[in-house]
Amino acid sequence: MNGLRRMDIKFLRGIGPKRAELLEKNLGIKTYHDLLFHFPTHYIDRRSIYRIIDFAGEDMPSLQVKGKFISFTVQGEGAKTRLVGLFSDGSAVMEVVWFQRIKTLRQLYHTATEYILFGKPSNFNGRWSMVHPEVDTPEAASAQGGFRGVYPLTEQLRNRGFSSKTFSTAVSDILSGIREMAETLPQEIISRHRLIGIREAISAIHSPQSPAQLEQARLRLKFEELFYLQLDIQRYARKRNSAIQGFHFPRIGHFFNTFYSEFLPFPLTNAQKRVIKEIRADMATGRQMNRLLQGDVGSGKTLVALLCMLIALDNNTQACLMAPTEILATQHFETITKLVSAMGINVRLLTGSTRKKERAVIHEQLSDGSLHILIGTHAVIEDNVRFHNLGFIVIDEQHRFGVAQRARLWTKNVIAPHVLVMTATPIPRTLAMTVYGDLDVSVIDELPPGRKPVVTLLRYEEDRFKTYQGIGLQLRLGRQVYIVYPLIKENEKLDLKSLEDGYENICETFRDYKVAFVHGQMKPQEKEYQMNLFASHEAHILVATTVIEVGVNVPNATTMLIENAERFGLSQLHQLRGRVGRGEGQSYCILMSKRKIAKDTRKRLELMTSTTDGFAIAEADMQMRGPGDIEGTMQSGIPIDLHIADLATDGQIVQLARDTACTILDSDPDLQSPANALIRSQLNLLTTRIRDWSRIS
Ligand code: ADP
Ligand code: MG
Repeated sequence: MNGLRRMDIKFLRGIGPKRAELLEKNLGIKTYHDLLFHFPTHYIDRRSIYRIIDFAGEDMPSLQVKGKFISFTVQGEGAKTRLVGLFSDGSAVMEVVWFQRIKTLRQLYHTATEYILFGKPSNFNGRWSMVHPEVDTPEAASAQGGFRGVYPLTEQLRNRGFSSKTFSTAVSDILSGIREMAETLPQEIISRHRLIGIREAISAIHSPQSPAQLEQARLRLKFEELFYLQLDIQRYARKRNSAIQGFHFPRIGHFFNTFYSEFLPFPLTNAQKRVIKEIRADMATGRQMNRLLQGDVGSGKTLVALLCMLIALDNNTQACLMAPTEILATQHFETITKLVSAMGINVRLLTGSTRKKERAVIHEQLSDGSLHILIGTHAVIEDNVRFHNLGFIVIDEQHRFGVAQRARLWTKNVIAPHVLVMTATPIPRTLAMTVYGDLDVSVIDELPPGRKPVVTLLRYEEDRFKTYQGIGLQLRLGRQVYIVYPLIKENEKLDLKSLEDGYENICETFRDYKVAFVHGQMKPQEKEYQMNLFASHEAHILVATTVIEVGVNVPNATTMLIENAERFGLSQLHQLRGRVGRGEGQSYCILMSKRKIAKDTRKRLELMTSTTDGFAIAEADMQMRGPGDIEGTMQSGIPIDLHIADLATDGQIVQLARDTACTILDSDPDLQSPANALIRSQLNLLTTRIRDWSRIS
């Protein structure tokens, strides 16, 4: 394989220096190896030939027809000059149009010769045509086997005469020119997972003889890609784990036990118990814990965090809980103070608006160790905040913090504190494993008993009157209501206007009720004031932008109306919806949308009405948007540059690759054994190094 990486494609028949340059510029293809790993994106079944008379519909796929040209004419002038061939397959006639290389093609193609054309038909005024199809003789076409790859090309390459055929010819030339291709996976792994060999895989991925063979080729290549990626991530993670010393928390003592037996407000769910066990086990190893706690909105993550913080206190260290907003931090502070106040635990709140005097007290108590639990916003990571002995950090709603901010918490102690990152944005397992390879994941997959799933409805403008009637009913029952507008972006005057209009409209419609109003551009104090109006039930309706997305807990609010729901992403809608359905009453979420929306948008909204399962929604979100787009990974800039594997659909292969990688590292952590020489050298060829993700939390 190494040889292939050194062979320049300019030496290939039919490529040459000029075309090689173009390929490098457009697709980064320089060597035989690059070319062999430039895979088709889809395949045409060479065995089926369409009839022109059967063409129908607006959006025909690319396909093949077989027939003869009746005539060629050059039409138009200047830039619009084109070669037009009339092509008949006996069933009907269509136009074939070329805008480039007119002279060459005019000489190349003849009437009366039989050709197979491959391209995408389009229809102008009832007449079918194909622009720049690929043209083969039937012999050449059948020589390429059952299926024919269609390769990703750029406009420039297409204009310069490159086609899928250029690639398949070059690939088959390379393959027939080399006697053997060095295997890139150890034989033992290949036979254990019943994979096909590299040469067969490469050959089949370019021109498969059957769908089954294509599947095998894909499996082999995806596995290989994911295997080396996992190996790299895992190897790195293990090194880090052995290098970083963590706190050893062997004790479950006074605080935890007293709280558990006397102050626990309700029995823990089984999922909460399991997660606490997982965290306890981590903290008892002496290795620094780095754990992601995923739990759908309302699943009770706060209580889990508190119990773990108590373990830290039992082991004579301090704990810190960091939340993304002042409102959330305050809410956590109030909840936790209420729960532990009788136990003599010193809990304090530190945010941007903490007074100077209180700040001084906090600083002093932190450094002399008399402050047990500090709760706050990112004010807690400021330089002048110093702990006596910080043993445990909880970060709530992880995706709101940048990587750098999180990393700063690590520096708060000589020994790295244990870190628990909590998120309600479910990161699909495959993604979590791939990008956070070394972050352990715990999942609370069960809601506290008695919760009723939120009923979600999709409504249009003409349903508004009825919708308001429904809201009125909830208000009369003494329930509260959220009305949400799309986020105000900077300088988006229009959004602000629609929010303000909406607010006025709501005040008008529901005259008997008090309406609170928040958006992201308000001063924090004003925001706080308005939120409190709603939280204290003084206000019945809260008109808001997505600032309420995270964490707010008002169990009496049973209805949420989301305006312009078509403008929100799936995960965001799910987060928003999580604000209702937190109490006893049946809750509703109404998605108000334009009637005319794109297919994908409709799919998104309909999915919301059909499920409340956060994981299902996250998976669907990833499939619709692609993993690179997922909020959070995008912010942390993790490069998921996969060639053939697809994180959205290849979860099982990721798992297999990870298990295989772990088994190997278990017995040979540094890959020093001669048996792993191949793996070692392949790994070194990986060009994109996985960077230090270990400190993401
Ligand atoms: P989230 O995971 O979204 O942060 P919270 O920790 O805010 O969820 O919990 C949501 C609500 O569920 C809170 O009102 C909390 O008191 C309640 N809760 C948590 N655990 C349980 C439980 N085991 N049984 C009943 N209610 C619970
Ligand atoms: Mg929460």
